[in-house]
This record gives sequence, C-alpha cells and structure tokens, in this order.
Amino acid sequence: MTDARPPIPVARPVIGEAEERAVLEVLRSRHLSLGPRLTTFEQRFAERLGVPHAAAVSSGTAALHLALRAVGVDGPGHEVVTSPFSFIATANTVLMQGATPVFVDVDPVTLNVTADAVASAVTGRTAAVLPVHIFGLPADVPAIERLGHPVVEDAAQALGAVHADGVPVGGRGHPTIFAFYANKQITTGEGGLVATADAGVKARIDSERNQGRAPDMQWLDHDRLGFNYRLSDLQCALGIVQLDRLDGMLADRRRVAGWYRAALADLVDRTGLELLPDRSAEGERSWFVYVVRTPRGVDRDATIRALADRGIQTRPYLPAIHRFSFYRERFGFRDGQFPVAEDAADRGLSLPFFPEMTESQVARVADDLAAVLAP
Ligand SMILES: *Cc1c(COP(=O)(O)O)cnc(C)c1O
Repeated sequence: MTDARPPIPVARPVIGEAEERAVLEVLRSRHLSLGPRLTTFEQRFAERLGVPHAAAVSSGTAALHLALRAVGVDGPGHEVVTSPFSFIATANTVLMQGATPVFVDVDPVTLNVTADAVASAVTGRTAAVLPVHIFGLPADVPAIERLGHPVVEDAAQALGAVHADGVPVGGRGHPTIFAFYANKQITTGEGGLVATADAGVKARIDSERNQGRAPDMQWLDHDRLGFNYRLSDLQCALGIVQLDRLDGMLADRRRVAGWYRAALADLVDRTGLELLPDRSAEGERSWFVYVVRTPRGVDRDATIRALADRGIQTRPYLPAIHRFSFYRERFGFRDGQFPVAEDAADRGLSLPFFPEMTESQVARVADDLAAVLAP
C-alpha cells in the first residue's frame, strides 16, 4: 500500500533566511575556519549555560572524546561508569581512550543512571562517571557528583533542560558535551561543544582539537597529541543564529509535545501505549524526540513498517549499546543484564517530532498510530 498524502519525516531542522545570510557572510569574508564566529559561538553558548568556558568541536563524538581525555580517562586500567541506554558514541569514546565502559541499568522513569546504581559500580579503577541526559530528561547529576569521581556529562540531547535545583543542564561546571547534528535542539549540520568551568580543560581541548598545537605558539610547536576536531566558521555562524532561535524552538517543541499528549490520551487508555514524562524529580525536560513505548505484546518493528506504509517515518529508539554485536563480542554482554534499558529499547518508538510540526500533522500521526495499534 502506498499513501497519497505527503510523508511526515521523523525530524526536520528549522533553517531560515537568517541562517542563509550568516553562512553567506562567512563565505564572502573568506575566513572559513578559526575565525571570529568560533569565539562568538563559544561565548554565547557559555553565557547561556552560565559557565565560563565552551570549546566548539566538529561533532558530539569529538566533544566526548576530548572531554574524557581532559578529565584523565586514559588507558586499559581505567573504567568509565555510564548508561547502556544511550547513543553508541557515549561508549565508543571510552573505547577510543583504551578504557572500559562499565554499564549500569537505568531508572524506569528518567531512563538515566541513578547515583545509587553508579555507586554500586565504582571501583578503584573508576576514572570518570559519564551520565547521559537521555531524551532531554535531566540525570541526577547533583547526587552523582557527591560520589566524588570526575564527571563528564553527555547532554547531546538535552540543551535547554534544567535540573531540579534550577541549574541548566551543562551549567554545573563538569565538562558537559552538546551535539549539533541536524535533529538536535540546535544544528550546525555536524558539530559539538564542551562546556566547562575549568580553564585548564578549556585550554587542553582547544589544543587537542587543533593538532595539539601549543597555546600561543602559533604553528611553532605541538606539545601533545592532537586531532583535527575543529568546527568551521561556516558552522559556527549557523550555530550563532540557531542559538538566537533556541528559546523559540524549545517553546515550539514543547507545544508539539503537548499536542501529542492530548492526541494520544485515548490510545494510552485503550491500548497500553506509554508516554514519557515532561519532567521528573530530577528536573525539567528539554524536548528532543517524541518517544512512546508500544504496548506490551505489540510488535514494535511491525508497527514501524505499517506506519511507513502510511507515510509516517518513525524509528526504533534507541537500541541499548550492550546489545550491539561489537559490544557483545568484545565484552560478552548478554540479554537480561540491564532489563530496564532493554525494555525501553524493545518498545521505544520515536514519532515524527520537530519545531515546525503542525497540529494537523500530529493529529494524522495519532490517527495512523491508532489505526495500526487498535484497528
Ligand atoms: C547525538 C549524540 C551524541 C553525539 O553525536 P554526534 O553525531 O557525534 O554529533 C552523543 N551522545 C548522544 C546521547 C547523542 O544523542
């Protein structure tokens, strides 16, 4: 069956004339990298979070890699306690440092690691704890930081989220990474950033993103191993405009989420479909994706195919890292080790969700989901 109605994509960035103008200006300036937009983007981002420093890099993955290095994660003796319910880059970057990811299961409400679970997994080899604010729901970093280990936060999905004590996610001073792929709250096409209160972390990341060039030495010396993880000025120009739009886009995302909650209420009652919360005891969510859990006993992947036939693009979201073949083979992970994460992974369905989504598009997704789940 093919559907005659226009398809609804799972995500779509907001790109307007201001973005076009900003990128064109950089092109015309001929200053395409390490130019003035880099500093401006970093400063505006840091101000928004209320931290002194930000270092922009080429991706969220690069940001994680450099943040882990900056807190001293280095080599086979080191373990990093983190969540199996995250995007694979969270754990891959630990491996990039030759260290071992130690997974703990997640909280059934926030789908994030708790301080208690982290405490049960720390050892003398723990080099860092890496909480993830998955789906934009804040993790309990205030409790995790009291455990006394270095913390790196993965806030790639959580720009705009706020902890229960009023501090923005990323504003506590630990190196916190953000990501700017096209489906994130703001986009630079590809991109990432580390926010930090520590001038030493900022200096190290600035150097390592740029081939390990010594500070203030121009090209004269490279005093450490480095990478090319730079973010171009074209991308930073995009980022500046997107930051200007952020509050509006976050409000749009909240409004779309509200439409979904209302439109799906009847299905929740009738079928056992589950929605995720707007906030938890840990704080207020920044809406990143609209993930629902298909009712128990329903074939989630068949639901995805049936919706695709109707022109509704959805995703299984997100798969647990310990179940990827590379991780199974390397570490011997088995099903059943992290049951909460596995259940969330088995039933998670990411519905179309983006700031410019209309109420009638939400209604159509809800109707089509109802037709598939409860014909
Ligand atoms: C998007 C994302 C990243 C990093 O993504 P890049 O594609 O490298 O920018 C890291 N962690 C999580 C949880 C993410 O969602």
